[in-house]
Amino acid sequence: MSVLQLNKLVKRYDSVEVLHGIDLTVNKGEFLVLIGPSGCGKSTLLRMLAGLEDISAGSLMLNGKEINDVPSQKRDFSMVFQSYALYPHLTVYENIAFGLKIRKADQAHIDKMIDWAANVLNLSALLERTPKQLSGGQCQRVAMGRALVREPKLFLFDEPLSNLDAKLRIQMRAEMKALHLKLQTTTVYVTHDQVEAMTLADRIVVMNHGVIEQVGTPLELYDNPHNIFVAGFLGAPAISFIRGVVQNQGSQLGVAVHDTQDSSYSTFIPVQSAIVTVGQEIVLGIRPEFFQLQASQADSHTVKVKVKFIEAMGAESYIHGQLCGQDIVAKTVLRLDHKPGQVIDVGVDLAALHVFDANSGLKLSN
Ligand code: ADP
Ligand code: MG
Repeated sequence: MSVLQLNKLVKRYDSVEVLHGIDLTVNKGEFLVLIGPSGCGKSTLLRMLAGLEDISAGSLMLNGKEINDVPSQKRDFSMVFQSYALYPHLTVYENIAFGLKIRKADQAHIDKMIDWAANVLNLSALLERTPKQLSGGQCQRVAMGRALVREPKLFLFDEPLSNLDAKLRIQMRAEMKALHLKLQTTTVYVTHDQVEAMTLADRIVVMNHGVIEQVGTPLELYDNPHNIFVAGFLGAPAISFIRGVVQNQGSQLGVAVHDTQDSSYSTFIPVQSAIVTVGQEIVLGIRPEFFQLQASQADSHTVKVKVKFIEAMGAESYIHGQLCGQDIVAKTVLRLDHKPGQVIDVGVDLAALHVFDANSGLKLSN
């Protein structure tokens, strides 16, 4: 059953349109993540769901009923912002209780809910403190607690972890996931962090310039990005892009890549003939794990890569290099000691190549 349905939602500020007709369904119990670069309209869309921004055109349906004009406090959604917006002079207990007191809940209910939320969020020992006696992570948990005790139909989160330092962010990310598995409350979560999106989401919505580029599970988007934008946005280290023009070499179509700095250095990467035509400008996308540093495998094609530098992460290493003048990143579990400037043989798994049209940016497939 769907909870929220967004039909051609448009947002205009005066004459400037910032959301251009968003169609989206949020399913019951799912954790949906909106991701996209800064300014693409994520917060605006979330605020429209919350009732904090007017809807310029289109309709927003909750369980089949239009709620465009239902005021924020009647929607029964809880929103958590990047800035936790706690009341500085109130204790943790009072901050969490605030929304329930406003709604005139009875004291026994308030105590029960706070006891439960404090337990879930590990805040029981901190209830008498004020926000300035708390760390950033603890403040974030209090803001979550305030949202939880209202038992909302929907959680809305706008980059709730982005003020935390890296270590705490990873810890809170795991806690968010565990909490959602426990509560199963329908959640719309905004972030610009692709690792957060990949790890938290049941489905990811990739936005750009006020439109949706693609919707899918994390692995659907990772394995089958519909365009160059989505391919480049998800994945760390990022996918490598090789640009070129399709040529015919001995009845095999492919891309000839030349190093503009070194005319003796060129390579040919074969591409499935059915999806391209001679003269077409294309972009090949290769994920870091599909470069092979070991002896070549069945479906792989060997290219020369000039090493720029190697990042040794411990469990794996990232080789930053150039393939005929174009930057690539390869990943390996091998421990390498190549020096900058060294040219090495690298296999490319042709079966894992993504082929995009350079002009439209769209993935080519048959
Ligand atoms: P994101 O959250 O993805 O970074 P926002 O939703 O905050 O993006 O903003 C989307 C676009 O809408 C931006 O171009 C921003 O400048 C514009 N915008 C946001 N709020 C307002 C406002 N109150 N008035 C005018 N323009 C706004
Ligand atoms: Mg924002």
